[in-house]
Amino acid sequence: MAYLPKEDRYTAMKYNRCGRSGLQLPAVAFGLWHNFGGMTLFENSRAMVRKAFDLGITHFDLANNYGPPPGAAEENFGRILKQDLHGHRDELIISTKAGYEMWPGPYGNWGSKKYLVASLNQSLTRLGLEYVDIFYHHRPDPNTPLEETMSALDLIVRQGKALYVGISNYGVEETKKAIAILKELGTPCSIHQMSYSMFNRWSEQGLLSLLKAEGVGSIAFSPLAKGLLTDRYLKGIPADSRAAGSSIFLNPQDITAEKVATVQRLNELAAARGQSLAQMALAWLLRGGQLTSVLIGASKVSQVEDCVGALKRLDFTGDELEQIEEILK
Ligand code: NDP
Repeated sequence: MAYLPKEDRYTAMKYNRCGRSGLQLPAVAFGLWHNFGGMTLFENSRAMVRKAFDLGITHFDLANNYGPPPGAAEENFGRILKQDLHGHRDELIISTKAGYEMWPGPYGNWGSKKYLVASLNQSLTRLGLEYVDIFYHHRPDPNTPLEETMSALDLIVRQGKALYVGISNYGVEETKKAIAILKELGTPCSIHQMSYSMFNRWSEQGLLSLLKAEGVGSIAFSPLAKGLLTDRYLKGIPADSRAAGSSIFLNPQDITAEKVATVQRLNELAAARGQSLAQMALAWLLRGGQLTSVLIGASKVSQVEDCVGALKRLDFTGDELEQIEEILK
């Protein structure tokens, strides 16, 4: 049956302005790092994208190397766009990135102009698109002048292959320099994609305040600590979880008794607020409007639904915030 997006899809979602740009992004965005590769069930990936769009998630995040194999997530998302969302391109914000190893030889990795331009051309072919909405440099390159990497982003925008550009995994000082170079080139840095969760708070040490002062948007990746900040691992390691699967990014050794004890206490607090732990973890990141978006992943349609449900309760009492600090100590 042909997919017809829900007519009321824009009613429940919250849209936040991305820094000082004209772009509004959904408070919850959907990332395709896991569960969109060649080894996963295509119909499940497709169902998650449909559900996300029905819930007002307009922003889908990719990278050249998402799979496995690298490139497969862009190819699969390209198929879904064609099959289900072809009439809705102007309602979508699609982002991709380059910065990690993608093809052999000296031009398939890091931050040269050669790599970034070629990689985006390949991504557009896989996605079946003429342009992406946001193109990121995925990680800093210590051996390429930052001016060259930033001028590649500027070129890509002038070529019409991306509308906005961003950086990811850049530290505070690198971010400051990148923002300044892009400003001078006339293509603003629109967004920074950083790791941020209750278990990973490095961006609170200067990055978030810098982005706010500079009018740059912020989107937190792995906001659920790859699944740890949910009820997933409270009773062991489920066979269908990321930790049990072939992903090298979360392993059974990461699910320590100490972590589970912390998660258990957070889970009780979330229940007292009338939320799932995933919902509370997302609401906590969005507290006080400090971020533009949280960028979730999922393996099931029900998880996408649960995560968007976080928006029903974003406020925290002072006491709840103190309890969270105490638990995280
Ligand atoms: P999360 O921290 O949101 O973890 C997602 C995992 O959490 C899911 O796969 C699922 O685990 C579990 N989960 C999600 N929702 C629920 C729920 N409601 N209840 C219970 N469990 C839940 O994010 P990811 O690590 O997947 O990263 C998200 C996105 O961020 C990526 O897709 C990518 O776009 C981006 N990213 C960017 C990086 C960068 O360098 N710029 C690096 C990493 C990610 P399970 O699969 O076990 O069911």
